[in-house]
Amino acid sequence: MPGAAAELRACGEAAPGSRLNEGRRSARMVTYVCNATVPLTTACVMRCRYCGYYEDDAPLLTPAQVHRLLDAAEANGATEVLILSGDLPETFPQIRRQLQDLGYASFVEYVLQVCAWCLERNLLPHTNIGYVTYGELERLRQVNGSMGIMLETTDRQLAQRVQPKKSITGRLEVIRNAGRLRIPFTSGILMGMGEEQTSRLASLEAIIRLHEEYHHIQEVILQNFVPNSRSALRLASPLTFEEYAELIAFVRQRSDIEVQIPPNLARDYPHLVECGATDLGGVSADIDYVNFENPWDEPAMLSRLRAAGCTIRLRLAVYAKYVWLGWCAPRVANVVERYSREDAYRYYTRSGRAGSDTQRG
Ligand code: SF4
Repeated sequence: MPGAAAELRACGEAAPGSRLNEGRRSARMVTYVCNATVPLTTACVMRCRYCGYYEDDAPLLTPAQVHRLLDAAEANGATEVLILSGDLPETFPQIRRQLQDLGYASFVEYVLQVCAWCLERNLLPHTNIGYVTYGELERLRQVNGSMGIMLETTDRQLAQRVQPKKSITGRLEVIRNAGRLRIPFTSGILMGMGEEQTSRLASLEAIIRLHEEYHHIQEVILQNFVPNSRSALRLASPLTFEEYAELIAFVRQRSDIEVQIPPNLARDYPHLVECGATDLGGVSADIDYVNFENPWDEPAMLSRLRAAGCTIRLRLAVYAKYVWLGWCAPRVANVVERYSREDAYRYYTRSGRAGSDTQRG
């Protein structure tokens, strides 16, 4: 995307390579998004050893079940819906049968419909459904605020031990294709599975290199592995605080990507914000469907951050800089525009004030 760097500069932002932030981000300013999850299916072909999400014989959520989750999302004040599934669910006959009964030609067709339902309710979809082709991404782009796929690791020896069926090349391909299509994107690494710090740095380097080419990674998740009762793998190499801090510093020094820490997993998140982490991802009133034994607690999170001297700002599924760049598809841009009239999101208009501590909680 050769024109992207010039466009970013034309937006009045810092050149890539220096920090390119949402409005004027002060030290210890941290963002998060109020979200809800629609776990469309837990069927997944990959069977990663650390995962407590997948189930071989899982069905699809029906439209009625999806609408009930969207009703709850609206009632809880969510602005983003994480649309989640395992990888390649159509591999399973029960999913193919269900899609056929519902009248959808493919799983992605159903995802597109669910995204459309979200947008009708002014909820911004963030789809993370594993491997998708370039053509599927191109269609999903029309109805998503942002999308994501975890890279997890580029360490082939580690991958062979913990996720032997997953293709590192395939995941890098999805991240690259998202860049080619100008999709604001989230990726990240999973840490604590027996890898060395050098392996984590190499995985981050791979994400940063793709971002240098396409400027589309809005945040990178540094996710510490927390085993649950359904994960086959136990914690193999817990991350030290110093290692966590080094990884945060690495991303911040090397790129303008925001650094996301999951506050329901990384218990020391106020200190990690002090070290330079800038985002806490989606926080939901519902359970974390992937880490179901680790609930969020939004009020407690806000008071811990405030006690640590942090300023907290709400964000949407898409970061403001991509809205300013015109990367949002029209249906998505309409929903963002609606939010930008609210005080908390006024900075999405660029002329709005920089945004202050959130009123939630
Ligand atoms: S981590 Fe993702 S790809 Fe791996 S088994 Fe779980 S749902 Fe599937």
